[in-house]
Amino acid sequence: MRIGIPQELMPLPFMAWLKEQLSRHKEIEWHHKPTHKSKKIMLSEGDACHPFKSMVRTSIDLLPEIDTLLIPRLVKLDSHLMCPNFRALPDIVRLNINNICPEFAGKLNDITVDSSTSDEDNRVLIRLVKQLFAQNISAKNIVKKKQIPASLASKETTFPQKTIALLGHPYLLENNHLNMGITRQLSSLGYQITTPKDIPFKNLDALARKGDYYAKTNYWRSSREILGAFHYYTNIRKPAGIIYLIAFNCGVDALMRIELVSLHAKLPQTIPFMVLVGDEHTEQEHTATRLEAYLDIIDGI
Ligand code: SF4
Repeated sequence: MRIGIPQELMPLPFMAWLKEQLSRHKEIEWHHKPTHKSKKIMLSEGDACHPFKSMVRTSIDLLPEIDTLLIPRLVKLDSHLMCPNFRALPDIVRLNINNICPEFAGKLNDITVDSSTSDEDNRVLIRLVKQLFAQNISAKNIVKKKQIPASLASKETTFPQKTIALLGHPYLLENNHLNMGITRQLSSLGYQITTPKDIPFKNLDALARKGDYYAKTNYWRSSREILGAFHYYTNIRKPAGIIYLIAFNCGVDALMRIELVSLHAKLPQTIPFMVLVGDEHTEQEHTATRLEAYLDIIDGI
């Protein structure tokens, strides 16, 4: 069976777990990156953020090469709300299929994920196995989500000298196109990278709870992850610098940007911090130049 999940969803730990579990019940050929790009204009173009538009385009482009397109309706993960775009994703993909390629309408499979506990994760998997493979499985046969290896959830207070912490949504940090090649550029210049994925989410959430800048708690899952990581990298284990990659037109990032800049201004010690905004620019020189200038500051400290 050939199942497609857009590559932009795969950096979410829940999706990686779901894929691994589904593979235990059926022989699956996974497709995440389409082999061709459609030139058709999607209904979702316009004002949406680049990652969301990219998710929709990838979903549509995967259709010719798969039997089933799996687009979960991610409402809540790890007991925190996802951005509303994820709630709408299956609907927007369906709308585009009906408009552009109605012959593939039967391929889309969605399932609602509104999960606060591992038992709820398991229930999603049980429903999905039934929906996709017409099989019944029991919760006791399900392997729990992987924990971060102890070596990465380190007790050290510093990183190796040339380490940069990258903050941002996981799909930005792990996709070279969405992150404007920043991770590739840092690696080519000999820098190591650490991201919030190296720290257990429950630790990040606990740090975020202690240190919200706003009077109101910022409740989106990615806010908890980014804010918790900022506190971790400025108070617990310090890298040479912190870069926050944000997506143009992202409401969550618009709030977090102000919060992190304000928190950074209050720090007793200096740790170079830069915000980089990404959009659909085909040219990446502007971000490359800013990154070089930022690294010059770090090298001069
Ligand atoms: S959290 Fe921001 S970047 Fe991610 S899908 Fe929502 S609006 Fe887009």
